[in-house]
Amino acid sequence: MKIDTRLVQANGCPGDPHRAVSTPIYQTATFEQEGALEFSEYDYSRSGNPTRTVLEEQLAELEHGIRAFAFASGLAALTAVTRLLKPGDEILVIDDVYGGTCRLFSKILKRSQVAVRYVHGCTAEDFTRACSERTRLIHIETPTNPLLKVVDIAALAELAHGNDALLCVDNTMLSPYLQNPLALGADIVIHSATKFLCGHSDVVAGAVIVRDPQLAEEFYLIQNGEGAVLGPFDSYLLLRGIKTLGIRVERQQENAERIANFLSNHAAVKQTYYPSLLEKKNFSIHSAQARGHGAVVSFETGSLELSRQVVESLKLFPITVSFGGLQSSVSLPGRMSHASVPPQVAAERQLPQDLIRLSVGIEDAEDLIADLADALAVAESVSELRASVG
Ligand SMILES: *Cc1c(COP(=O)(O)O)cnc(C)c1O
Repeated sequence: MKIDTRLVQANGCPGDPHRAVSTPIYQTATFEQEGALEFSEYDYSRSGNPTRTVLEEQLAELEHGIRAFAFASGLAALTAVTRLLKPGDEILVIDDVYGGTCRLFSKILKRSQVAVRYVHGCTAEDFTRACSERTRLIHIETPTNPLLKVVDIAALAELAHGNDALLCVDNTMLSPYLQNPLALGADIVIHSATKFLCGHSDVVAGAVIVRDPQLAEEFYLIQNGEGAVLGPFDSYLLLRGIKTLGIRVERQQENAERIANFLSNHAAVKQTYYPSLLEKKNFSIHSAQARGHGAVVSFETGSLELSRQVVESLKLFPITVSFGGLQSSVSLPGRMSHASVPPQVAAERQLPQDLIRLSVGIEDAEDLIADLADALAVAESVSELRASVG
């Protein structure tokens, strides 16, 4: 079956005696045992909860994995991945990653003597050069956030496996609707389910999905042993959000494509970042591994002050971190979601401070474009005024 059908037709409550069509919320911490020595499928909601199970099974299926684990946040999911590493091991990570990933790797993981090496470049050769015999994990996002750089998933899987390492792909930017890294050779997929999977900006959640049974056992041990699980109500909200993932993403990326075109032709915009605007080589890598371009568009105006004016003049884009929701939003990543990047890493990765990131929602594209046109005009006139006064 095609993904649009699978999103909606998943069995919401297998074995439910009342045959409910929507997954019941098992808001319970414990489950009564049959007897002192007789156990049923569930005993305690950290170890397993029926609402969470339905969610995990759907996530595993959507990502072409054998098993998924729902966590309390995307960073809790990523933390679980880092538990696979021992002192002395090394992670290679693309430098243009989510700010919180940087903070986790550079500030917290360092305490466990796990080395982190940022790769400044996104070709397989850049990663090959950076690889050492200590490399046990390669962690990437593609397209990256917020600069929309592209990494070849299959090539990096090959590199990782030739080096006795695992490839973990943070698939948050595209969601399983548009890209399935496990099917391309990755070992682990993580999501900040807070973004597209949820889609309504009302849950913070994360997921780990794997295709290897041994790795699945390991993650179950970590999930249950450390306990950063997703609660039943949040699991239910995610299940509800996932049903509309397809139509949301389709509409959002249709709007995003139009906005990217508008921005790339606007005189006040220095550079626009969106997969359809990639140069040929990276565009073909992206097109070979993804089924669409997503709904995050970044652009530069040339100055932080101008960008601040634009962001503050927008009416339909509230200034918020995060992306992937139904409602459009805007952020200045250098000052917001990526402000947690340690200064040295920030200097090396050269995140432009004037970068504006749009998360495009499901509104009418013409309204969104008119709002952007107004905000750019206001910002330009303010800066011209300043220039003439100064
Ligand atoms: C938001 C985000 C995370 C972190 O997820 P939380 O749910 O906020 O903990 C990780 N990776 C990417 C790409 C993100 O956008």
